[in-house]
Amino acid sequence: MRLRNIKGARDVIAESPLVVHEPEEAKGRWKEIFGNCHPVRIEIGMGKGKFIHELAQANPGINYVGIEKYSSVLLRALQKMEKEPLPNLLFIRMDAEDITEIFDREEVDLIYLNFSDPWPKDRHAKRRLPSREFLARYDQILKKNGTLEFKTDNKDLFTFALEELAPAGWSAVNITFNLHEDAEMSEGNVMTEYEERFSSGGNPIYKYIIQR
Ligand code: SAM
Repeated sequence: MRLRNIKGARDVIAESPLVVHEPEEAKGRWKEIFGNCHPVRIEIGMGKGKFIHELAQANPGINYVGIEKYSSVLLRALQKMEKEPLPNLLFIRMDAEDITEIFDREEVDLIYLNFSDPWPKDRHAKRRLPSREFLARYDQILKKNGTLEFKTDNKDLFTFALEELAPAGWSAVNITFNLHEDAEMSEGNVMTEYEERFSSGGNPIYKYIIQR
């Protein structure tokens, strides 16, 4: 998702108290930043933030960090949040390639990837968020028994993501090729913006939950 450049987006983000502005300085200090010892869960590539906002609202005992690369997209999440700020939800504008600069070893309890960009060309495989290169980064920040949950409507990306698991030292805890028809996996499912759009068009949604 890349919205048209929105004039002033960077200024709004720079002034927002909902955004962590020097995220490298937060590394190892997330408990202090949230002011409690609750688990920290992150969504990488959160888009306009519907999913993470709903999760944070429903789970006040968990801290959430939404990560988004583009200012124009993050701005939309902030506009939604400003009407209803939550003490357990913060945002970072960054490229997830640098995620190990922001979270220390075992500082994250769960990682969500939702409808990640497919990067269909082979030469761009390393940019895919469920690639082995990214899994190696997640390995550095996720708790020992932590999990990663990935949803997509893109069959090729899902096949790729499954093939990346073994070489990266991860394994599937649960897999579905049709989330909305899977009673166990869909229990408590929170829909993302893309999920609403694609599933209303009849596309099946693929999901895995993985761990090392
Ligand atoms: N997760 C949302 C949903 O399901 O509705 C948005 C999905 S959209 C297809 C993918 C989002 O991931 C875009 O907003 C994009 O800017 C963001 N993104 C892609 N690569 C990223 C990266 N390396 N770091 C941070 N965000 C990224």
